[in-house]
Amino acid sequence: EKLAIGIDIGGTKIAAGLVDGDGNISRRLQQATVGHDAAAVLATVTSMISELGAGITVAAVGVGAAGWMDPTGSTVLFSPHLAWRNEPLRAELEAATGRRVLLNNDADAAGWAEYRFGAARKQSHVVCLTLGTGIGGSIVIDGKLQRGRFGVGSEFGHQIVVPGGQRCACGNRGCWEQYASGNALAREARSLMAVHSPMAHALRDAANNDPHLVTGELVTSLAAAGDLACQELIIEVGQWLGRGLANLAAVLDPGIFVIGGGLGAAVPSLIAAAETTYQENLSGRGYRPFAQVARAELGPDAGMVGAADLARIALAG
Ligand code: BGC
Ligand code: ZN
Repeated sequence: EKLAIGIDIGGTKIAAGLVDGDGNISRRLQQATVGHDAAAVLATVTSMISELGAGITVAAVGVGAAGWMDPTGSTVLFSPHLAWRNEPLRAELEAATGRRVLLNNDADAAGWAEYRFGAARKQSHVVCLTLGTGIGGSIVIDGKLQRGRFGVGSEFGHQIVVPGGQRCACGNRGCWEQYASGNALAREARSLMAVHSPMAHALRDAANNDPHLVTGELVTSLAAAGDLACQELIIEVGQWLGRGLANLAAVLDPGIFVIGGGLGAAVPSLIAAAETTYQENLSGRGYRPFAQVARAELGPDAGMVGAADLARIALAG
């Protein structure tokens, strides 16, 4: 069957792979993202495509990137985390590689992969969230990815949940992703350190007393090792996640929420807290079904697999 190349462009790494029609990856490459330099990203992705495609027939190239794409999958309109502004990435990559390319938002790609091959297989009303630097979102209804009129729908992370709250890279304040993401977890851990809380002794030791060394991963690993303060920080982020799920259910009424991304997939206690808070905040609870809250199944490969699959379907039938 037809092979496609999938590429996942994130803030810290670029992952690429050769993906078949069942979502299996046969070859893979990974590179660090070179700063916020759009030309360097283009050069890196171009060389990854030629390396992966050397000597074989490739049906299409799909890119999933942490940016807001136009509805035709050609231009990155904006990205809160990367350097692109109105970047015609599809034309640039097609010119550089001679191959057909389709762009998708990273979370749309990951959610599509979970629908096709992962936790949401055969489900009719799917909402997927990826928790990492920010919150990525995607909606699949009756087998169709819902991107909105202008391609920039399902940006759940930028719903304002705290008016006047934490500043967000999208330009607003109080966005949901400032409260329920890896970045939020790290910021809360830093603020616990900053007030010299005795609760934060494990954090201080692990981070050498340097707030810059506090990351979401550090907090989750300390929590897994039994540190109470870090466990509580995770529960708090999970509760923020759950409130947002209740809001999404009020609008979209999905049958399943799939939680993935570096933070979501890694931390069962966060998902459990989110599910409880979701149920406690769902409007009309007791008189309507609860949606399932499930962990993503495809791990860090979801974006690459979904981007390849979407490109193969759109460009190669
Ligand atoms: C961006 C989304 C992206 C998500 C995860 C958000 O801040 O607005 O486009 O999917 O982060 O990378
Ligand atoms: Zn925002």
